[in-house]
Amino acid sequence: METAISLLRAAQLKPTNQIKSNNMKRTVKYIVIHCTATQPDTTVESIQRYWREVKGWGDTPGYHYLIKPNGEIIKLLDESKNSYGVYANNNECISISYIGGIDKAGKAKDTRTRKQEVAMFDKIIELTERYPTSKIRGHRDFPGVKRACPSFDVKTWLANYTPAF
Ligand SMILES: [Zn+2]
Repeated sequence: METAISLLRAAQLKPTNQIKSNNMKRTVKYIVIHCTATQPDTTVESIQRYWREVKGWGDTPGYHYLIKPNGEIIKLLDESKNSYGVYANNNECISISYIGGIDKAGKAKDTRTRKQEVAMFDKIIELTERYPTSKIRGHRDFPGVKRACPSFDVKTWLANYTPAF
């Protein structure tokens, strides 16, 4: 059976058009995994409203992709643009977030459903094929990040993940 890691390696070895066609104004070095740090049933609309009204981010979202508990992936931003995912590193990142990441008491917790996990993994594989030199990281793996985002260890998850076929 193929493991998650062997799938990722295979994806990174595939030839890519991305580098040659280079219509990107930025270099994607990291595929960054986040959580919204909200309850899992929080709506996409209320998350966007928070960014606009509380954070003052206008139409720029926190992430490129948002994954709902049912596994649906919402594209919020073109990959050629910067999101507000990772302070000071946004120029080099594509950010993926699942909705959730805290328990009822507000403490960091991996609340991903199996469908969110599968959708997240498949998206990572797809992005890895298009950005073969990119590294996969959790938000908290960046230096100086004090938050728990995405509420799980990305490396450990990838090492133990069983792909869905
Ligand atoms: Zn984050």
